[in-house]
Amino acid sequence: MFPIFPKIYPISYFLFKYLPLVILGLLIFNLIHKKFQAGWGKKRFASFYFAIVVIILFGISLLIMRFKLSDILILPVLLGTGIILYLKKQIFFPYKFKCLNCKAKLPMQRIVFRDSNLCIKCENEEDKTNSH
Ligand SMILES: [Zn+2]
Repeated sequence: MFPIFPKIYPISYFLFKYLPLVILGLLIFNLIHKKFQAGWGKKRFASFYFAIVVIILFGISLLIMRFKLSDILILPVLLGTGIILYLKKQIFFPYKFKCLNCKAKLPMQRIVFRDSNLCIKCENEEDKTNSH
C-alpha cells in the first residue's frame, strides 16, 4: 500500500476514509428495498446509481493520493458531481414527502421505499380503478 498523507490531502483522505461506509450503507439500503417492493423500482435504482457515483468519487480520491496530484483537483470533481446530481435529481432523488394525489403527509416507509409516492388510501383507490 502506498503511503497516505492526511495532512497533504485533507479532502481526498477524508473521502477515502469515509466513502466506503457510504457505499456500504447505500448497498444495504438497496437490499432492504427488496423487503418492501418486488423488483427494481425507481427508488431502488436511485440508491444503486448513487452508490456508483460514490464509488467513482472514492476512486478519484484514491487516484489523487496515488499519483500525488494536488488535493485541489477534488474540488471541481465534487462540484461537477453536485451539478450532475442536481440536474438529474429526478433519477437520484425520486422521493416525495407528500402524497401526489391528496397532498397528505406520507409516512417514512412510503417516502423511502414505495415508488408510487401515494398514501395508502389513494393507492388502494388507484388499484380499484385499475382493476375495473
Ligand atoms: Zn393520498
